[in-house]
Amino acid sequence: MSVIETTDLAKSYGKLTAVDGISMKVEKGELFCLVGPDGAGKSTIIRMLCGIIAPSSGTATVLGNDTQKDKSELVKKIGYLSQRFSLYGDLTVDENIEFFARIHHVREFTARREELLDFTRMKEARSRLADKLSGGMKQKLALACTLIHSPEVIFLDEPTTGVDPVSRRDFWKILSNLLHEGITIFMTTPYLDEAERCTRVAMMNHGKLLDLDSPQNIRDKMRGEVYEIICSPVREAYLIVKGWNGVQEAQLYGDRLNLIVNPHENIIESVIDALKNKGITISAWRKIPPRLENVFVSMMGHQSVTVSGELQEISDANKST
Ligand code: ADP
Repeated sequence: MSVIETTDLAKSYGKLTAVDGISMKVEKGELFCLVGPDGAGKSTIIRMLCGIIAPSSGTATVLGNDTQKDKSELVKKIGYLSQRFSLYGDLTVDENIEFFARIHHVREFTARREELLDFTRMKEARSRLADKLSGGMKQKLALACTLIHSPEVIFLDEPTTGVDPVSRRDFWKILSNLLHEGITIFMTTPYLDEAERCTRVAMMNHGKLLDLDSPQNIRDKMRGEVYEIICSPVREAYLIVKGWNGVQEAQLYGDRLNLIVNPHENIIESVIDALKNKGITISAWRKIPPRLENVFVSMMGHQSVTVSGELQEISDANKST
């Protein structure tokens, strides 16, 4: 039995289809990630899996429990860190964990609390008020509260959004330690670099699955060679090379232009020359290994951008510079 299983899971709000018939399975011990831009339907899926909202159609089970029919069983076994997870600012770190222990009816919580404070390296901060913690520390405390009842599966909705890079790294170390304990992690992220670290990735847009596979297998689906060109003005360069013979696709990421070209045709140098001849200043260019973002943008079928690594969708390449 898979830990999480959905069959044609769908959710509509009036005419809007937020989640459009998703079927997937997540196995024990996986670090599974839903990745997609804002509005893709990631949080809606998590909320359905945690039994918070009802699907419009389709079914979902977590640890064999139907997320609608067996809600009371479900909440004992799962942890949910929502985007709006609220700590109590006027309580200390210790008191917050105690509060969540009581909510989950965990009577003997002190040993587990020590373990979690160790685990999240929060022991020195245990007497500080939650309000006085940095963003990264708050998120670690929220995770500790989510883990107090020793759930078998945790659902993390964009746990690192808005968290500084150092705390993000710290948070990821904690997640990998949790995996060693055999916990199954189901998370969402708008960051494709984070998705690269997961065992499997479900790429989503407009409520639909674009692909579901390991990051390696997804990258291997890229048929062309990828070149990264840093140049100015980048949007003009994009318009010049788009549709060039042998260029499968041009993708814009801020000041970076990525070209996906037919393999073994050696056209890149003539493309670079052509750009220079048209007055484009080339600061650097190199061949790069395909990244998930290249595949994702390609699958979305139209231009999108990543801003500070966060996937965002736009309908028109002209807006990206
Ligand atoms: P993501 O988590 O990928 O950003 P969401 O699951 O939050 O996406 O939202 C998917 C779509 O469903 C969005 O268009 C959003 O505006 C819409 N949506 C989400 N919740 C509601 C709601 N309670 N009422 C109406 N529309 C909603």
